[in-house]
Amino acid sequence: MARYTGSVCRLCRREGCKLFLKGEKCYGPNCTVGKRPTPPGEHGQARQRKMSEYGLQLREKQKAKRAYGVLENQFHHYFEEADRQKGITGENLLVLLERRLDNVVYRVGFGSSRPMARQLVMHGHILVNGKKVDIPSYLVKAGDVITVKEKTAENEYFKGLREGTGKVMPSWLTIDAANLKATVEAMPKREEIDLTIQENLIVELYSR
Ligand code: SF4
Repeated sequence: MARYTGSVCRLCRREGCKLFLKGEKCYGPNCTVGKRPTPPGEHGQARQRKMSEYGLQLREKQKAKRAYGVLENQFHHYFEEADRQKGITGENLLVLLERRLDNVVYRVGFGSSRPMARQLVMHGHILVNGKKVDIPSYLVKAGDVITVKEKTAENEYFKGLREGTGKVMPSWLTIDAANLKATVEAMPKREEIDLTIQENLIVELYSR
């Protein structure tokens, strides 16, 4: 399946919540969610009927997939991996998604949105433990140190971040903004993941 290249705000409208795909604009008055609460498209209004159980499960999966910028097959792989792990499958799934390098780059504020963070990783601007990692799906582990490539760090955007990224950091991550250095202190816990996703519905969907 090809990567979605249309308006990302449509995705938020479709899911009926903010997915924070446009950086700073998502926090401003021009965010489309709220202004146009109906799903996009000609029949958006008409689609606001009561959803079936399957529909609810499907929407929850789509919401998670779109928030983290993951394609269908890859998302299914995450689910299979989560199911193999000990513990609660739904929580394992969210923890795996949260550990993606592009998500971490976003969480620490190096990228203002997950799509931007993904670009930074893919274009080789991000180092993990001093080595370039250009795979957005790379899973970080406790003790990993994430930095910005020296030449990239001279860029005006990153110079501004040295004053502080302005991000409220989850407790499993810490940042030394002056040196553009983030550390993964521990694995994320479900309660530290601020997305309003009902992961149990995703598990139910894949268990059908
Ligand atoms: Fe667009 Fe961001 Fe608002 Fe979503 S949260 S509708 S991406 S501005």
